[in-house]
Amino acid sequence: MSVSSSASYHPDTIAIHGGQPNELLTGAVIPPIFQTTTFAQSELGGTPEWCYSRTGNPTRAALEANLAALEGASFGLASASGLAAANTVLLALSKGDHVVASQDLYGGCYRLFTKVFARFGVEFSLIDTTDPRNVDSALRPETRILWLETPSNPLLKVTDIAACAALARARGAATLVDNTFATPIFQRPLDLGADIVLHSTTKYIGGHCDVIGGALVTRDPAWFERLKFLQNATGCVPGPQDCFLLLRGIKTLSLRVQRHAENAQRIAEFLEGHSNVLRVIYPGLQSHPQYELARRQASGFGSIISIELRGGIERVRRFVRSLRLWPLAESLGGVKSLLCHPATMTHAAVELAERHRIGISDGLIRLSVGIEDVRDLIADLDRGLARSSPAAAEPVVNRAATCTGARKGTRPVQEVPS
Ligand SMILES: *Cc1c(COP(=O)(O)O)cnc(C)c1O
Repeated sequence: MSVSSSASYHPDTIAIHGGQPNELLTGAVIPPIFQTTTFAQSELGGTPEWCYSRTGNPTRAALEANLAALEGASFGLASASGLAAANTVLLALSKGDHVVASQDLYGGCYRLFTKVFARFGVEFSLIDTTDPRNVDSALRPETRILWLETPSNPLLKVTDIAACAALARARGAATLVDNTFATPIFQRPLDLGADIVLHSTTKYIGGHCDVIGGALVTRDPAWFERLKFLQNATGCVPGPQDCFLLLRGIKTLSLRVQRHAENAQRIAEFLEGHSNVLRVIYPGLQSHPQYELARRQASGFGSIISIELRGGIERVRRFVRSLRLWPLAESLGGVKSLLCHPATMTHAAVELAERHRIGISDGLIRLSVGIEDVRDLIADLDRGLARSSPAAAEPVVNRAATCTGARKGTRPVQEVPS
């Protein structure tokens, strides 16, 4: 199935067939891993389809076509990581160009903006994009890109993509949506007027916590040409093995995100009713300030939940140590549930004052809800909340934690409670 003919298929079918015809030589039903650097050319000065694997590789091309089809795009580009994808877009800008971006966004993107591209004279305005009027007043004649992350990381703010993209378009700026949290199964930014969609495929698209990757997709041939040139010119491409793993992950993307989201809804409701939890942020709760928009704009609420516990950072420390099924780990979107403390982990690159300005408190915890049995996940959280109360005895060490074990050269203990 070619990308162009895939428009009439539904996402679950595209995930399995998009960009992946049976292999021509052998009939293999899954695209092989073309683990080769280069391709023999038949004549001098020809224009072969394949010449060098930085420029193009058949396994990568299958992934790129698949991701494009899933987002309803015409073109896809895979990169070595989500940040490599962000880097590629920003490299299309020049000194004096301006970017308007959601202020509450992935810490690594913030770092790339403020610590790397700002040095080259690209200007950034980080604003609260949940109100389109803020976007309108931040756009300048030299604004090239409106960079939206929705739902955002870690505060799960929801931005109206259609309204903001229309404002940007009217002022000659392109809209990029980081669709990592929502996935193409739940949210289709190009249909809402965005020009470019960015993914950290490390997250739900890979989905198994075992591959780092990124992608950009677009319908705009001019953007594609520019980004394709930069992909080759700067070389941040993924290897064919990683592309294969991503294609493998995508085959169950739809099944996984549905289960992730069902689990997250149950957990968010459980936490919202818990006396030791001060605040629960999840777009699927009616208490979320943009619940209606989230429902209108996406077909699912995702599976990231942010919470604040009663009792501050010390409570968080005890809570984290007492859990068994929630390793303290960066990243999200994998089959395995993970817990992250943004202030010291994913958003440590964001200065304290900026973190407080945008509302990332030291007590904030981000949960990435996996696809385990939700009863076990809830029981573990419940136990953790009880054991972390100041009155409780010193809790057991987080047996699910992997980082420290690995650093000490010991085998991490993975004990599932009976
Ligand atoms: C993880 C993440 C990124 C960066 O992706 P990497 O694959 O880690 O480089 C960008 N945006 C969002 C929303 C993310 O969660």
